[in-house]
Amino acid sequence: MDLGIRGKRALVCASSKGLGRGCAEALAQAGVDLVMNARGAEALETTAQEIRDAHGVEVTTVAADVTTEAGRARVLEASGQVDILVTNAGGPPPGMWTDWDRDDFIAALDANMLTPIALIKALVPGMCERGWGRVVNITSVSVKAPIPVLGLSNSARAGLTGYVAGTARQVAPQGVVMNNLQPGLHATDRAAALDAGASKAQGITVEQAQAQREATIPVGRYGTRQEFGATCAFMCSQHAGFMIGQNILLDGGATNTTM
Ligand code: NAP
Repeated sequence: MDLGIRGKRALVCASSKGLGRGCAEALAQAGVDLVMNARGAEALETTAQEIRDAHGVEVTTVAADVTTEAGRARVLEASGQVDILVTNAGGPPPGMWTDWDRDDFIAALDANMLTPIALIKALVPGMCERGWGRVVNITSVSVKAPIPVLGLSNSARAGLTGYVAGTARQVAPQGVVMNNLQPGLHATDRAAALDAGASKAQGITVEQAQAQREATIPVGRYGTRQEFGATCAFMCSQHAGFMIGQNILLDGGATNTTM
């Protein structure tokens, strides 16, 4: 399917690895020029070059922490005018509800709610003026079904989801399509770290830990970054013009809900 976005320009945050990388690759495959970001310059440059070589699109890189004001300013300066924004960053740490005080919540809100909102506020006015734009926020399955040890993530991402639900309706008349993409378990470095943690805690092998978690997914495996990226690219395409303020769950059927 031709996504109809060849020649557009996208900012994909936190995209040297994992789900952000999957989104960057799928957009590049559709002919979109990219601004890519991550904190570590080396992996970012390597991924950017692989994408340039594979897809022949223009890729600008900004090594910066997108959750800080200074980092965001550098990312936005390099981005200039973009048609597509994919927000992403690392998730907050796990714990018990008794572990977190005000500062922990402020940090989580800064990273996973106020950072995407700041990027939206900086870039969506230009999209509205030009009459076309796409925003995809990478959130989490935890918005639909809470993950108890990720209370900080549950809270911050639910806050972003509420903001997007209203804002998407305000910008839709100007041709801007804004939605959230909710990952369930995907085969990224983060999933590997969780498997390693479970292996250590339970005294089992990493393979056994992975098999245990895969058994909770009806599809019987983790999702791939390519599947995730392809869905993101569709949500950024010309064909997504009637999809407004939605939360698209990609979890292999793991969340047992009717809607
Ligand atoms: P990942 O494989 O660890 O990749 C994270 C990417 O983001 C890397 O490129 C990393 O590069 C970059 N990054 C992290 N923090 C950043 C920051 N502050 N500023 C700029 N770049 C940053 O993680 P992932 O699995 O793709 O997860 C992406 C998001 O989806 C996370 O918020 C995660 O909580 C959420 N999620 C993931 C899953 C899953 O199963 N994978 C499920 C639900 C939710 P640097 O480290 O070099 O900055």
